[in-house]
Amino acid sequence: PSGLDRDQMQGLRGIREFLKVRTSYDVLPLSFRLVVLDNDLLIKKSLNILIQNGIVSAPLWDSHNSTFAGLLTSTDYINVIQYYCQFPHEIDQVDKFRLSSLREIERAIGVLPLETVSVHPMRPLYEACRRMLKTRARRIPLVDVDDETGREMVVSVITQYRILKFIAVNNEKHTILLKKPVGEIGLGTYANLATATMNSSVLDVIHLMVKHNISAVPIVDKSNKVLNVFEAVDVIPCIKGGAYDELTSSVGDALSKRADDFPGIYTCSEDDRLDAIFDTIRRSRVHRLIVVDDDNRLRGIISLSDILKYVLLYGEEEDDIRGS
Ligand code: ADP
Repeated sequence: PSGLDRDQMQGLRGIREFLKVRTSYDVLPLSFRLVVLDNDLLIKKSLNILIQNGIVSAPLWDSHNSTFAGLLTSTDYINVIQYYCQFPHEIDQVDKFRLSSLREIERAIGVLPLETVSVHPMRPLYEACRRMLKTRARRIPLVDVDDETGREMVVSVITQYRILKFIAVNNEKHTILLKKPVGEIGLGTYANLATATMNSSVLDVIHLMVKHNISAVPIVDKSNKVLNVFEAVDVIPCIKGGAYDELTSSVGDALSKRADDFPGIYTCSEDDRLDAIFDTIRRSRVHRLIVVDDDNRLRGIISLSDILKYVLLYGEEEDDIRGS
């Protein structure tokens, strides 16, 4: 193998070792706030709470049984929208749904419930990563048991982004070894990309996300130049106040409703290297990278799960991957 290959492998091994000696707890900031929602809350109200707090997900709490009741994410709202599409006459019903109805909604529209995985905060971070990859979860709750009451409690939630940021900030000596171009290592998706235009309706884009099981759709013009990206989290402001009938409006309109602190779209080229991507993650709130050519035409997408998968699994024994 060339020096580049050797360095790349050494970098990956270094990062994997690092993830094995750190815990999920290590990723948490010294002080943080956790918004937990009661399962009895109206779905409609939960939207306002997320928006007011500038968050896109929250753990749910079943106060009748004093147990953790899963994680609320944009996928749940997309399910509610699908329900509304399938049963348009039940809009009054939709308004009355509580968070505890989410499982029923899944059943009604025929989607498989997401496996609720959690990890203990003191387990190695590597374990949280493997579990995320296995279940395709983008975030994972850290659940501990209270010594005194013996009850479960949600300490926090960690995301793919937080983990990659943690690697980028604390492990530069290994990330700088990752010098192979992303095009060469095949990082990301380059074929059969799901895209939409500014005139597509929000509903069209949501259906694309559901169909392909993806969390973002690049918005391109006639010549395939990237204008924007519609993300699963962008549906939250769209249905605020129960405005389901407005989902037929255009993506262009919907994107103009983004919060002022929207972190922006990040692009890279196929010649960029993973070390540069880690630099970007270190500096900014990146949730995916859109791969473009010199004319800003769409070439591919690198999701955080693509990066996490590569960092954890590239070059590992096949058996090891299956047995994870
Ligand atoms: P994440 O799991 O990090 O949220 P996604 O769900 O968006 O990321 O991506 C899941 C997989 O689908 C990744 O391998 C990614 O490269 C691919 N992907 C993401 N967006 C698209 C798209 N618009 N078209 C085709 N494939 C995509």
